[in-house]
Amino acid sequence: MTLLYKSTRDAQNIVSASQAILQGLATDGGLYVPTELPKLTLDFDELATQSYQEVAFTIMSAFYPDFTEAELRHCIDSAYDDKFDDAAIAPVVKKGNDYYLELFHGSTIAFKDMALSILPYLMTTSAKKNGVDSEIVILTATSGDTGKAAMAGFADVPGTKIIVFYPRDGVSKIQEKQMVTQKGENTYVVAIDGNFDDAQSTVKALFNDDALKQKLAENGKQFSSANSINIGRLIPQVVYYVYAYAQLVKAGEINNGDSINVSVPTGNFGNILAGYYAKQLGVPFNQLICASNPNKVLTDFFQTGVYDRNRPFYVTSSPSMDILISSNLERLIFHLTGDDVAQTKTLMEQLSSAGSYEITPEMKAKLADFYGDFATEEETKQAIEKVYKEANYVIDPHTAVAASVLEKYQAQSDLPSLVVSTASPYKFPRVVVEALTNTETDKDDFELVHELNELSNVTIPTAVTELDDAPIRHNRVIASGDMKACVEDILEVK
Ligand SMILES: *Cc1c(COP(=O)(O)O)cnc(C)c1O
Repeated sequence: MTLLYKSTRDAQNIVSASQAILQGLATDGGLYVPTELPKLTLDFDELATQSYQEVAFTIMSAFYPDFTEAELRHCIDSAYDDKFDDAAIAPVVKKGNDYYLELFHGSTIAFKDMALSILPYLMTTSAKKNGVDSEIVILTATSGDTGKAAMAGFADVPGTKIIVFYPRDGVSKIQEKQMVTQKGENTYVVAIDGNFDDAQSTVKALFNDDALKQKLAENGKQFSSANSINIGRLIPQVVYYVYAYAQLVKAGEINNGDSINVSVPTGNFGNILAGYYAKQLGVPFNQLICASNPNKVLTDFFQTGVYDRNRPFYVTSSPSMDILISSNLERLIFHLTGDDVAQTKTLMEQLSSAGSYEITPEMKAKLADFYGDFATEEETKQAIEKVYKEANYVIDPHTAVAASVLEKYQAQSDLPSLVVSTASPYKFPRVVVEALTNTETDKDDFELVHELNELSNVTIPTAVTELDDAPIRHNRVIASGDMKACVEDILEVK
């Protein structure tokens, strides 16, 4: 049997990898998951000798069997090149007693680059394979990093357009500047008066709007999603977990087969779900630690089995995790039901109608791979300060959430631990400098970048220096209720 993709909400909806990449969200509103676990024997002594690109080929060819070797190598080599400022692409560093998997060496200095640098190539290749000649319109909601990383990936890729919505008051100054200065004739950036969940729910609704899809089709266009629900993003994220473990073996830090913990700063549940798939493929992960900020809907879920989004929404220092609906969790739910589409659909419908659902005791019993906890804003700052003092290493607030939660967990496990480091501290200089100096400051973000440079001795990434004199190219601000009209206007399909 060859590996295909099936929807979490309709057992009849089964498509090839390339079709799933093109569609993003399944037409029935579900998410695509692999029909089976790829048959792969991970030999870490062998993997330890391989480059990131080679490991990527091993993993991705198993999950994307309808891509030819030449197609896949083209995608991988176009994505993971000198856009990354470290030849290892995803280096693992040891700081203090813990290991940090640095996923921020790409063009927007955050982990979304890991997948979004390859997605445009996977999509345009998938389009060709399926004889699609309509223009692909990427529609995306972002809490900060996705939007910029998606635009960096898609800018000026022929046959594509990209429209990004972000919450006006929910992203950092640097994130905002990165977005509004985005180059590319096919990129559109729109700020909304509302939070990330408003933007995300409307984007989901637009994907399911048949009349709108019809209008697009008449104009030779079709929507696709660059959001983390696309398996064209999820699978490339499995790669760095395999690579990281192999690197630890290679460095002699662990023996092949040793169990390690991995702590993941979590929002939409994409990154940690990729870690879960990696564990299923045979990476010896002990506990997958799901680290949340005060928007701790996932912590409560792992502790109680109840997912409840009816709660206050906090704007925190780790904005990419300010999320109350973790879209990718639907895939885990589906696996927990034993691939039961009816049960998954019922739970997801309860989430959209009542804002909550409770899983069964049988499902709860299968959650043992995960440990969920959260860090307060104060604990996040303390973690930044502590890692700096003890290991002379500066981490960003998202990574600090993972480090803080890991420390709580380490009371019950002394296995080696890997912290997944999702952003460069230069992306959040205010929070980081305030934490390191224990003072509040009213300097602007750009002055703080230089202060951080003095404190950390880490070179300022070009992604930040080039912002200084980049012209503003996007200035639309709309009410969240006007998103549909805005899309029609941009695409000229009124
Ligand atoms: C997106 C993001 C996260 C959360 O990852 P998910 O896959 O959404 O759980 C964490 N940190 C940073 C910096 C991010 O950009």
